Amino acid sequence: MTALNQTPLEIAPLAENQRQTIAVIGAGFVGLCSALWLQRAGHKVTIIDPEPPTGNVSYRNACSYGNACTIAAHAVLPVGTPGIVWDVPRMLLRADAPLSIIWRYLPQLAPWLIAFLSASRTKEVERISSVLGQMLYHADAAWLPLMQQSESMHLRRENGCLYLYKSEADYRSAEQNDRLRAKYGVAIDEVSRDEIRDLEPNLAPVYERGALYRDSFNLWSPLQLAQALARAFEAAGGTFVRQEALNVEANETGGKVHTSGDPVEAGHIVIAAGAHSKRFCAQLGDKVLLDTERGYHVLFPEGRDLLNRPVCYPEHGFYMVPMQNGIRTVGTVEFGGLKRPLNPKRTAMLRNATPKLLPNVGTATDEWMGFRPSMPDSLPVIGPSPKSPNVTYAFGHGHIGLTLGALTGYLVAQNIAGQQTLIDVEPLRPVRF
Ligand SMILES: Cc1cc2nc3c(=O)[nH]c(=O)nc-3n(C[C@H](O)[C@H](O)[C@H](O)COP(=O)(O)OP(=O)(O)OC[C@H]3O[C@@H](n4cnc5c(N)ncnc54)[C@H](O)[C@@H]3O)c2cc1C
Repeated sequence: MTALNQTPLEIAPLAENQRQTIAVIGAGFVGLCSALWLQRAGHKVTIIDPEPPTGNVSYRNACSYGNACTIAAHAVLPVGTPGIVWDVPRMLLRADAPLSIIWRYLPQLAPWLIAFLSASRTKEVERISSVLGQMLYHADAAWLPLMQQSESMHLRRENGCLYLYKSEADYRSAEQNDRLRAKYGVAIDEVSRDEIRDLEPNLAPVYERGALYRDSFNLWSPLQLAQALARAFEAAGGTFVRQEALNVEANETGGKVHTSGDPVEAGHIVIAAGAHSKRFCAQLGDKVLLDTERGYHVLFPEGRDLLNRPVCYPEHGFYMVPMQNGIRTVGTVEFGGLKRPLNPKRTAMLRNATPKLLPNVGTATDEWMGFRPSMPDSLPVIGPSPKSPNVTYAFGHGHIGLTLGALTGYLVAQNIAGQQTLIDVEPLRPVRF
């Protein structure tokens, strides 16, 4: 595999008698993109979400709101890689480490953590990278038609994504990851200290070497992209039901979603509620090992023009990303479930570290925590419920749900149409642990 697929994907409209009414739960990128691809196939689609990205809704409850805005063509590696087991004690001891675990959540996390450590073995990492490599190869080809339809191409900032290392030794220790990336077609430029200074003159010179991932790029505003997709969905005849989904029932002809308002009946149901999807799987009798990696961001409005592309120091576990309203410092992983509030130690860490890497960035004004929907092997779930074929699952995208949202929607539409999918979705089956 060499260059990435840049030919926009297409789906043929289905015959009249194959078209269905479809209810999608969740208006994050995965739900919105699934809805748009399903409409393209000819279905009549309703999205159920108490806060879809329309009108004055803040959208802050969706993970799709607060991410690092990066279409990460380089994200071939899973989160768990060989050796991570030795980091677990540090994760437990330090609340501000790039990866941390809230002690009291450990008993609940245990089954997920065991599967995560098992997926971090060398052979598994090779297998997972090969699946991610295939998905990333088509990721932008799936986005292009949806961005064109929603008139959001202007949000793309196609300047690559820069990873920096403070020493030659750090760079060398990451080289093996780049070898794996290169194997799956990621275009990588090794960059020297001088080249980094030319690319990003406003960075403090605390770097020795770097890698520029040429095919990755960032979006000026994920909120604006989500709003544009929502407008395109409505313009194509889609309807939002602004209610919380409470319960899903499936039968031979379709299913019913009980909501905080009136129930919604449909010929097919798609569960795309991000990290909140597990309860619906349980209602249908499917045991899915979904948990959440909580991630954080702070915003520096005055720093807006200081960077030309997303910049990441892997050792810190966060990105600094230029956006329409400032520099967003964003990332890190905290295992702590869906119920606990934002941990101020983690936003303080982002707030304090940024000016050391990017002087003149100013003062942070905003802080956010969101729930990455995460499977232990860093692969999403895409496919039918084993117990209820009229329900399709689409969640679990962890760190790359923005990148893979459009491709997921495409695969969902192919799957529901009974077509052979563009890539083999067997490794993405819901009940795999
Ligand atoms: C700090 C951070 C940085 C990230 N950076 C990147 C990045 O640079 N690139 C990238 O590709 N990915 C990134 N990600 C990951 C990406 O943001 C997620 O994978 C993606 O947003 C998940 O999308 P989703 O649609 O599955 O879930 P969400 O965006 O969380 O959407 C789920 C939707 O379901 C709705 N919902 C929940 N419960 C119910 C219910 N009961 N009834 C109805 N609706 C419900 C919610 O309101 C929400 O709108 C990052 C994530 C974080 C946290």
